[in-house]
Amino acid sequence: LLSLRDVSKVFWLGEREVVAVDGVSFDVSEGECLAIVGESGSGKSTIANMLLGILPPSSGTIALRGEPLPEHRTLAHRRAIQLVQQNPLSSLNPKRSIGASLRLPLDVHGIGTRSERRKRVEALLEEVHLPAEYSSRSPAALSGGQRQRVAIARALASESELVVLDEPTSALDVLVQARILRLLKALQKRRGLTYVFITHDLSVVRNIADRVAVIEKGRLVELGPVEAIFTNPTAPYTRRLIAAVP
Ligand code: ATP
Ligand code: MG
Repeated sequence: LLSLRDVSKVFWLGEREVVAVDGVSFDVSEGECLAIVGESGSGKSTIANMLLGILPPSSGTIALRGEPLPEHRTLAHRRAIQLVQQNPLSSLNPKRSIGASLRLPLDVHGIGTRSERRKRVEALLEEVHLPAEYSSRSPAALSGGQRQRVAIARALASESELVVLDEPTSALDVLVQARILRLLKALQKRRGLTYVFITHDLSVVRNIADRVAVIEKGRLVELGPVEAIFTNPTAPYTRRLIAAVP
């Protein structure tokens, strides 16, 4: 579904060159959960922003279904790849009700008739296990975990091909985190959802990822099935990450 070939991103801070992502290649297959794991500053969010088309790579190519991503974000690309961020408050408009936030992508992409859109918003809330009456609430009136559910529902609204989740559970307590992970797993099964799950915490991905890509200082140091990563890590950096798992 998605392929990255030798993708790099260089930032310039005055005279200084920061290589945030360095020659990364991987594929994401349809229906799979690929986890990208690495320490703070390893380049995870930079990869996410390149997938979203928010940041152009300095070199290399990113292709969706064999088509290289366009240089400027098109409406079709915005629809195809959706982002869920760590803090949903920064991505949910505080002035918009939950229902309006979920309706917006349907309007933007011209999905369904008026009455169909209303039904779809209800179905989306149900899918992420939120009561229908939350539709009229503002994001401020929700808990962190509930907001993250709304952000996930919004990412599903436009029937995107790929959802990129950048530390979606890092701000949540352990129980809420586990519920969100279960929800994502269920959506993967039921909808055939394809997603890239980005986290600094290797322990989080054990039960949800199919494969894990380990990133150290912008470089891909290991990529393999989740069980192989845990039982037989090859890169020293991966062993260090595993040692950090409680
Ligand atoms: P975290 O786990 O803390 O979110 P991360 O793995 O997402 O970290 P990135 O945000 O991708 O890391 O940053 C990777 C590197 O690129 C860091 O060294 C960062 O300082 C640098 N960087 C990121 N964005 C910019 C920018 N706009 N300008 C300059 N340097 C940047
Ligand atoms: Mg980040």
